[in-house]
Parts: sequence; structure tokens; C-alpha cells
Amino acid sequence: MSEPHSLRGSCLCQRIRYEITGPLGRIVNCHCSMCRKATGAAFRTRASVRTDALRWLSGEDQLGRYESSPGETRTFCQGCGATLVTYFRDHPEYLGLALGTLDDDPGATAVAHVYVASKAPWHEITDELPQFAERLPKDFVG
Ligand SMILES: [Zn+2]
Ligand SMILES: [Zn+2]
Repeated sequence: MSEPHSLRGSCLCQRIRYEITGPLGRIVNCHCSMCRKATGAAFRTRASVRTDALRWLSGEDQLGRYESSPGETRTFCQGCGATLVTYFRDHPEYLGLALGTLDDDPGATAVAHVYVASKAPWHEITDELPQFAERLPKDFVG
């Protein structure tokens, strides 16, 4: 077994800091309207992480929570508004991590664009990554 991969991240104001010990799932760029609203950006780059692989180093009490759709709770820093992790009621063993808050290099890059059907009209995707109208297909290999 190789040494577990450890990654650190933080919010904009640095009150909230976290560490991930364990692999990240596949990285995708999500263009859904909720991710756009939550981040204020054209898309949110996210990856799944095992819930037990994430440890809050500081500021966990600063986490705000917003249930953006039933069973899906987005968190953010109450001090600076940075979006952090998303909790899923039906899949509590995994959470969605906003990669923009990472301070370390995860050593991987995005594999696809998802929810492209909801893409902002003012944003043009100019890379060669596969695009999906909605979620990543279960049989997607990449
Ligand atoms: Zn903050
Ligand atoms: Zn999204």
C-alpha cells in the first residue's frame, strides 16, 4: 500500500481549513444552474470524497448550510461565503468537494463537463473533454 494521499484546503478568509486523506473521485466541471449560483462562476469543479476521509482542521463551527435541493445540503463559510462541501442525505458516505478551495495539487484534472444542458449562454467550453447534458453516465470511463 502506498502512503495515503493528503490534501489541504481552506476557504477564502482562512477560518475554515480541512484535510483530505484518501483519493479524490473523478473531477468534473458542473454547469448546473445551482452550482453557477452558488459559486458565481461559469461552473463548479467538484470531486467526490469519502466523508470519513475529510477532517476539519479549523472553523467547522463557521460552516453555513443550505439545502439547495431535497437531500442535498451545500455548505459555505459564514465569514467569506466560499462554497465548501456538499452533503447528500441518500449517500452519507460521500460528499462533494468544491475543488476551488484546495490549496494542494490533487494531481488530477477534470475528466468531463456535466449538466451542460444548463450551461450559461455567456460561457463557451473550448476544451476537448466529453460533455454530458446531465450527470456523468454510470458507465463513463475516463
Ligand atoms: Zn471563510
Ligand atoms: Zn452542479
